[in-house]
Amino acid sequence: MRIILLGPPGAGKGTQAKSLAEELALAHVSTGDILRQNVKDATSLGKEAKDFMDRGLLVPDELMAKMLQERFAQADVRKGFILDGYPRNLAQAKTLEDIFSIQGIDVDLVVYLDSSEEVIIQRLSGRLVCSKCGANFHKTNMPPKRDGICDKCGAALYQRSDDKVETIKRRLEVYKKETSDLIEYYQGKNKLHRLDADGQATIVLSQIVALAKQ
Ligand code: ADP
Ligand code: ZN
Repeated sequence: MRIILLGPPGAGKGTQAKSLAEELALAHVSTGDILRQNVKDATSLGKEAKDFMDRGLLVPDELMAKMLQERFAQADVRKGFILDGYPRNLAQAKTLEDIFSIQGIDVDLVVYLDSSEEVIIQRLSGRLVCSKCGANFHKTNMPPKRDGICDKCGAALYQRSDDKVETIKRRLEVYKKETSDLIEYYQGKNKLHRLDADGQATIVLSQIVALAKQ
């Protein structure tokens, strides 16, 4: 099973992708996570990407294409994957098709997580992320059992540098301008399923699992 998750920042792509990867035994490919790891490790990619990320802008396509090629050359994606955060514009969708055609694979399902702007801003401005395992929490919606500590692994939680209200608004603008075109693109390929992602994460999860098992 090969799944792409589309949707605005804050729609819950990361949360859903992590749960789905576990439930369906798939590899989780998150371009945001890979980029943040590169920033943390101060690699040359991380150094180039950081400024774009902090400003809520897209990292240039060529850098992303190289990163994705490397990721898809790893063995674990052969068992199937959930792609979260890519593609984000039509050029990236084409790059992805090139990578897939070289490997002789195709995507099975594109899930569009649709969320309202109000919910997005509330979710992202209160989001807390584990510095070690990447698990997501929320100050009020999904608080950790112990303040500032990850329930899953005990490491410290932090607030992402791009989860400030101003940057969230910029990310939403970029999404509307560049990424929302992909909804039509995948609709045209008869691959797209839209889900309302404003509700509870567990409900959205069971809806995606049902689509994957169809
Ligand atoms: P979100 O979807 O909530 O904005 P991500 O963690 O997916 O968060 O991405 C964080 C940032 O990483 C983006 O704002 C962007 O700067 C960069 N990024 C992630 N994926 C891509 C991509 N496919 N193309 C360009 N930039 C990306
Ligand atoms: Zn953790």
